[in-house]
Amino acid sequence: MRWTQTLIPTLREAPAEAEIVSHQLLLRAGLVRKLAGGVYSFLPLGLRALRKVERIVREEMDRAGAIEVLLPALQPPEIWQQSGRYETARQVLYKVYDSARREWVLSPTAEEVITLLAAAEIQSYRQLPKNFYQISVKFRDEIRPRFGLMRAREFIMKDAYSFDVSDEAAQQSYQRMYDAYTRIFARCGLRTFPVEADTGVIGGTLSHEFMVPAETGENEVAYCEACGYAANVEKAVSGVKAESAPGGAATPGPEKFATPGVQTIEDLTRPPYNVPAARQIKTLVYLVESRPLIVLLRGDDQLNEAKLAARLGTTTFRPATAEEIFTLLGAHPGSLGAVSSTLPGAAPPVWADERLRGATDMTTGANEDGFHLRHVDVDRDLRVNEWADLRTVRAGEPCARCGKPLQIRRAIEVGHVFKLGTKYSEKLGSGFIDESGVRRPCVMGCYGIGVTRTLQAVIEQSHDADGIIWPVSVAPYEVCLTPLQMSPGSPVREVAERLYEALQREGIEVILDDREERPGVKFKDADLVGFPFRVNIGEKSLARGQVEIKRRAGGALEVVGVDEAAGRVA
Ligand code: ATP
Ligand code: MG
Ligand code: MG
Ligand code: MG
Repeated sequence: MRWTQTLIPTLREAPAEAEIVSHQLLLRAGLVRKLAGGVYSFLPLGLRALRKVERIVREEMDRAGAIEVLLPALQPPEIWQQSGRYETARQVLYKVYDSARREWVLSPTAEEVITLLAAAEIQSYRQLPKNFYQISVKFRDEIRPRFGLMRAREFIMKDAYSFDVSDEAAQQSYQRMYDAYTRIFARCGLRTFPVEADTGVIGGTLSHEFMVPAETGENEVAYCEACGYAANVEKAVSGVKAESAPGGAATPGPEKFATPGVQTIEDLTRPPYNVPAARQIKTLVYLVESRPLIVLLRGDDQLNEAKLAARLGTTTFRPATAEEIFTLLGAHPGSLGAVSSTLPGAAPPVWADERLRGATDMTTGANEDGFHLRHVDVDRDLRVNEWADLRTVRAGEPCARCGKPLQIRRAIEVGHVFKLGTKYSEKLGSGFIDESGVRRPCVMGCYGIGVTRTLQAVIEQSHDADGIIWPVSVAPYEVCLTPLQMSPGSPVREVAERLYEALQREGIEVILDDREERPGVKFKDADLVGFPFRVNIGEKSLARGQVEIKRRAGGALEVVGVDEAAGRVA
C-alpha cells in the first residue's frame, strides 16, 4: 500500500474527549473516528488491525473445534421474554420499531437465538457436542459509553455457545475454550490473566474472565501472590463470605435502618411521596462503616436486589422514605448519596465521591415535593471501584484460600467464559434424545471476546511517548518503507520502489510512505502509527549501498545492505 493512496489522518494533538492513552492513540494514529458517543468508524489502518485480531480469534476457535455461524443482530423481543432476560437485561437492550410499530431488539449477545436454533436442529446425542461461534456487531445501551472502543454502544464481539450431553462433557468444552482464549490473547501479544468471576445477568455456574492489567481498567481484581488465587472483587467478596474467613476477617455486615411509616414499596406511590407506580423505587438504606449508603432500585428489580444482597451480605430489604433519606443525609455529612433534592431548605446531598454524581445521573422519577429520585444500576453504577466503601475485600486481608494477604489491582475484561448448565436449554427447548431414548436438556456454555476492546487493550498495554508499538501479529502493516525524499528519478525513490516490490513478493505487509514530506514528519507518523519495522532509505547510507532498519519496539537501529533489507524484516 502507498501512503498517498490510503487514508491515515494522523493528529498531532489528542482530542480532549479522549481520557485514556489508548483512546488518544486510536484517534491520533488515524485508526478510528467517532460518529457519536460509543459509536465509531474504522478507517483503513484500524480495520486492518481489527481484521488481524479477528483472524487470530477465528483460527483458534476453528482449532478448538468450534464452527462459525452468523446470527441476526435484529431479534424479536419474544425470545428475550421466553428466556426471562427481557427484564433482567433491559438496561442494555436497544429496542427499535418497524413501520408497523412492532418492537425489535438489537442483539447485545445471542444465547436466545442460538439455543432456539439448536432446539430446532439438534435432536440426538449423536449430533453432540457442538460449539457454534460468530464474530459480529453487538449493541449495548451502556449508561456511560467511554474510553473509545473499550465501552462502546456498538462493538464487535466473538461469541461462542457450546452444547453438550452432560456436565462432564460441558466441562471439557469449557476447558477447550479457556485454553483457546489463553492462546488467542498470547498471539495478539497481550498479557492477560484469568480470574474467577461472577456469573451476573448471563447466569450459570462457573465463570472466568480474562483480564489485562491496566490502571485504566474498569474492573478490580483481588489476587494472591502466594497461592495464585485471582478473582474479580465482586466474586472474591462472596468467596470470602462463603468460606467465612478465619478470625472473622471479613468486615462486619452493614446494618439496616428501620423505616417508619412505609411498610411496602407501594407506600412510596402514595402521598407524600407520589413516586409514579410505573417507576416504583425501592429505597434501600444501609449503614456501611457507620455511614448511610442509599440505593434506589426499581421495585421489581429483583435481580439487582439479589446482587446487592450478595455484595452487602444481607438478604432482606425494606424500603425507606425520601424524608428519611434526607434526614440521614443531613445527620451524616459524608454520606454516600444517590438522591438529590430541589426542595428549598433541604440539605443538599453530600457525595462521598464526586464520581458518584456521574454514576447516578439517570433520573427516573420526581415527585411533587421536588425530590428527584435517582436510579442506581447495580451492574454498572455500583462498580466496586467507584463505591469503594462497598468493597468488602481489601488489599492486605487474608486470602480465603491460603490466608496470605490479598492484593488488589485494576484490569480490563477482554474475554469471559461461562458454564451455563441447562438454564437456557430448558427455557428455550434445546434438548436431545440420549442413548437410552430419554429426552434431556443440552448442557451449555457461552464464551465472549470483545474483539474491538481487545484491539484497544493491545494499544493500552503496548505504547510509548511516540505512539503505538504494535505486536507484529496485529500490526496494520509489518513494515513501513520511509524514503527520505521522493523526487522523481532519484536513487532513493528508485530503491524504495524496488524494496516495495521485493517485500510484497515475499508476502510481507508493507506500506510505502510516498509522501513528499520532511523526514521528521514521516518518522513521527510511522512511530505514532507504530509499524513494527521502519526502513529508512536516505542518500547518505545509500551511497554506501545501505539502508537503516529501525525496530519500533525497543528502538534498535540496524544498518544493512540494500539487498539484505527484505530478509531482515521478513
Ligand atoms: P463489562 O463488565 O466491561 O461491562 P460484560 O461483562 O458486560 O463487560 P460480557 O457480557 O461478558 O461483557 O461480554 C463479553 C465481552 O464483550 C467482554 O468480556 C468484553 O470484552 C466485551 N464487551 C462487553 N461490553 C462491551 C462494550 N460496551 N464495548 C466493548 N466491548 C464490550
Ligand atoms: Mg457490561
Ligand atoms: Mg464484566
Ligand atoms: Mg463479562
